[in-house]
Amino acid sequence: MCHCKDCQRRTGSAFSIAVFFAREHVSIAGGSCATFERASATGFPVLFHFCVRCGSNVQWEPRRLPDLVGVGAGAFADPSLAQPDQSVWTKDKHAWLTLPEGMPCFETAPPPRVPPDSPETTRPGAQR
Ligand SMILES: [Zn+2]
Repeated sequence: MCHCKDCQRRTGSAFSIAVFFAREHVSIAGGSCATFERASATGFPVLFHFCVRCGSNVQWEPRRLPDLVGVGAGAFADPSLAQPDQSVWTKDKHAWLTLPEGMPCFETAPPPRVPPDSPETTRPGAQR
């Protein structure tokens, strides 16, 4: 979940919840999307795709993470979706919002994650 002010403005809510997928596992079936690109707080642009019929922000491409595509958790309309595994940009979190106990939190952008099969994870001293 992201609490940055850009996500607040984009969603019209207090935070955004994203599910990230490897780019090769995402395709848009049917319909067409409009796009909008803006800078992010990290300095990298993000390309957003919106449904031209309903205006929903279906997916986005963070240029900082070129191998990933973000999909809004709400787009699944599935209350059984897993709890978010981290909270980012908490310096902009609304004060009334209490996060789940034990959730990793980052005041700004989180450090990049290392995929489990990456040589980085087999390097002595490497941490996930
Ligand atoms: Zn954000």
